Amino acid sequence: MTTIRIPAGRPPGSVLGAAPDTVENAEAYLATGGYADATGPDELLRHLAASGLRGRGGAGFPAAVKLRAVRERGGVPVVVANGEEGEPGSVKDRWLLRARPHLVLDGLARAAAVTGAVRGYVYLSDPVAADRVRRALAEREPCLPVEIVETAHTYVAGEESAVVRRIDGGPALPTAKPPRPFERGVGGAPTLVSNVETLARIALTAARPGLRQAIARSTLVTLSGGSATPLLTEVPYGVPLRTLAAALGVPDAAGALMGGLFGGLVDARALDLPLEPGALASAGTALGCGAIRFLAAGACPVSTAADAVGHLAAESARQCGVCVSGTAAVRDAVYALASGTAAPDTPARLERWSLGLPGRGACGLLDAAASVAGSLPRAFPETVRSHLRGPCPSCAAALPTGGHRGRLAVAVPEVAEAAVDDTALDDKAVPRMPVLKGTP
Ligand code: SF4
Repeated sequence: MTTIRIPAGRPPGSVLGAAPDTVENAEAYLATGGYADATGPDELLRHLAASGLRGRGGAGFPAAVKLRAVRERGGVPVVVANGEEGEPGSVKDRWLLRARPHLVLDGLARAAAVTGAVRGYVYLSDPVAADRVRRALAEREPCLPVEIVETAHTYVAGEESAVVRRIDGGPALPTAKPPRPFERGVGGAPTLVSNVETLARIALTAARPGLRQAIARSTLVTLSGGSATPLLTEVPYGVPLRTLAAALGVPDAAGALMGGLFGGLVDARALDLPLEPGALASAGTALGCGAIRFLAAGACPVSTAADAVGHLAAESARQCGVCVSGTAAVRDAVYALASGTAAPDTPARLERWSLGLPGRGACGLLDAAASVAGSLPRAFPETVRSHLRGPCPSCAAALPTGGHRGRLAVAVPEVAEAAVDDTALDDKAVPRMPVLKGTP
């Protein structure tokens, strides 16, 4: 089971809130200043631009730019809270909808006010989360009609054009772009598809004037790896990755799989990098949705890469020819490395694919496969060379035989139904994160 941990010294305006293992109700949310009218839409848009809040779904696009693009498109826009997280190592969006449905609905209403939208959707696959959102909507009527749209849980179902297609009654599969949803989305209307954590931070930006920078510069992360119990927590940008590995319980990590599957593999030296989107991008990796899988000392990175590319090949929506052949080729090459049967030019082919495949599919799945392919020989060149000399006992034994999702998956944390009481609201009642060196 995944643990939830509140970092010591976290600001009161955090997404985790005071009782992250308990479902919030409307009364508790209103008591903390939720749904207040103090900040108008124009003012909120200015604050979002000034704080630099970026989307938390993976791409990291500036929230204010995305809102403004829909608002300036004209027509009658639509807003969508996207809670479908396809990355197998991420649970933060499902936790957020299960535990803090009012915070997300507040953010959705504020996004509607900024863009001029007159109807909204909550899009998700998790039935528990759907139930919690339904109850929250019944508890407090939203200021615009909100519909819940459920989908099957797949890697690509949360991609924004797949979201629009599913809401319009089609399959949850990406479409070619342009048009992007802000140009032509649900029912042909300009549509904001926003990750639920982004919406939560928009609501907090409106409600907590003194904490806007802290809200923009902190993020939920799902940490897993080794034999440690997975951990969902919220950290400020700037914390070294190594500190997060230690907080998880993998202090001697040999590297990590970053950003879900999107950021590829990094070696142990990269663990000195700060958790900050720009710094990670400069180092050739990515924060993505904030899911980080650390490699325990002695774990074989080829095995982790095999899990990742096996998962991606299995999850390809098989719409784009280059994705079907590209993900299969990458998977077969990494599997061959794992079993000690790879051709000598395999590292060069992985490198070539990492440069030639990105951007050629209708969604980011192929980019993720390319990222893992290229990062393996770049981050672990000696390990890859040793796999060309013969089978590696540890990763050959662990070679996926199907069920890739199972190995990379992290369980959604338990969120109790109990009503919030004084004990649950006491910060001391929940475990605290160990010292976070490097916290700004
Ligand atoms: S890139 Fe792959 S997963 Fe994405 S739409 Fe094309 S076939 Fe589907």
